[in-house]
Amino acid sequence: MEKKKPVVVVNKRYCKGCHICAEFCPTSVFVMHGFTAVVKNPDDCIGCMQCELRCPDFAVTVTQ
Ligand code: SF4
Ligand code: SF4
Repeated sequence: MEKKKPVVVVNKRYCKGCHICAEFCPTSVFVMHGFTAVVKNPDDCIGCMQCELRCPDFAVTVTQ
C-alpha cells in the first residue's frame, strides 16, 4: 500500500513573504510569488515539518 503523501498549505493571509520556508525546505517545494510563498512542487514534500516549524507567522500547515 502506498504511503499517504503530506499535504502542504500556505495561508496567504498570514504569509509575509520572508522566504524562511523556502530556504529551509530540503526539497524546494516552495517558490516565492512576490510576498507570498506558493506550494509549487507538492509531490516533492518529504514531511520533515521544517516549514511549519520555522514559519514565524504560522502560515504553513503540513498534514501528514
Ligand atoms: S516562512 Fe511563513 S511567512 Fe515566511 S514566506 Fe514562508 S509561509 Fe510566508
Ligand atoms: S514539510 Fe519539509 S519537505 Fe515538506 S514542504 Fe515543509 S520543509 Fe519542505
